[in-house]
Amino acid sequence: MVPCYNEEQVITTCHETLTRVLSPAIRDYQIVYVNDGSTDNTYELLQKIQSTDARVKVVDLARNFGHQIAVSAGLAYAEGAAVGLIDADLQDPPEVLLQMVQLWEQGYEVVFGVRKTRSGESWFKLKTAEWFYRVLNFLSDTAIPRDTGDFRLLDRKAVDALLRMPERDRMLRGLSSWIGFRHYGLEYERLPRLAGVTKYPLHKMLRLALDGILSFSVVPLRLVSILGVATAGISMLGISYALVLRLFTRIWVPGWTLLFIGMLFIGGLQMLSLGIVGEYIGRIYTEAKQRPLYLVREVLSSVAQQPMARKAASGSA
Ligand code: UDP
Ligand code: MG
Repeated sequence: MVPCYNEEQVITTCHETLTRVLSPAIRDYQIVYVNDGSTDNTYELLQKIQSTDARVKVVDLARNFGHQIAVSAGLAYAEGAAVGLIDADLQDPPEVLLQMVQLWEQGYEVVFGVRKTRSGESWFKLKTAEWFYRVLNFLSDTAIPRDTGDFRLLDRKAVDALLRMPERDRMLRGLSSWIGFRHYGLEYERLPRLAGVTKYPLHKMLRLALDGILSFSVVPLRLVSILGVATAGISMLGISYALVLRLFTRIWVPGWTLLFIGMLFIGGLQMLSLGIVGEYIGRIYTEAKQRPLYLVREVLSSVAQQPMARKAASGSA
């Protein structure tokens, strides 16, 4: 399955390449394209592709729901015994999918791509990604392998498990670690984007990072308590020091400056703690609303039956 957001420059080549690689090797396959509310010509091109190739299914989402949700929608509509996730920009070579299929046939239920090299990516993106995984793995109980993206092959069992997770903040690579099953990390070379620009600007990357941390860990909350205990401890020391000086000596602590600094410090800590708690409450709020994860405008498929039965991922189950 291929999530597509404004990929008019690459989508045709993407389909040609996928077909060239898959058709000689796999007897029976289907390609599911999810149009994630593209504002360019992507959908028209997908319609054209679908009308000429019976093995193509196109799921058109009602608006842009974001990459992770688009992938979830694709998983719900994919019918295979195993489902491969690949980006439209062919940064992840489709040939690797065939290796993944071989490993899947050997019994691995989650075969994920591990990026050996990432050419064409900025130093900044590489460094931030590296640090993100460090922090995430330090904080979270679910180990999420470094240098992985969403490029992976999932067995039907794993797909169904993912579809049973109704949460709105979805970091798929994290969820697919969480479910367990037999994993295999397959190394490959990640290429530069075929054409077009990245759909992951800095703010979306930060959002994904935050989702990853906050939905796999409550350590930040514990950190708030630790901060509270620490500041209370320090202030106790300060109080005793001031009291001892005042009672047993002739000097006392003069200190508007100290008072002021202390006030700002505690105020800052309180704001930070409130913010952290607030992030979690905000997430509870969005979960509590129980809105569907995504809405589908239309599904183009040459097969008559539409798998609407699998409702879990649409949030209505
Ligand atoms: N994508 C999507 N919805 C979005 C953003 C991205 O479906 O809101 C798709 C995009 O079309 C591509 C994949 O997700 O197929 C990965 O995006 P991109 O290549 O821009 O990310 P990068 O490789 O730069 O991290
Ligand atoms: Mg890309």
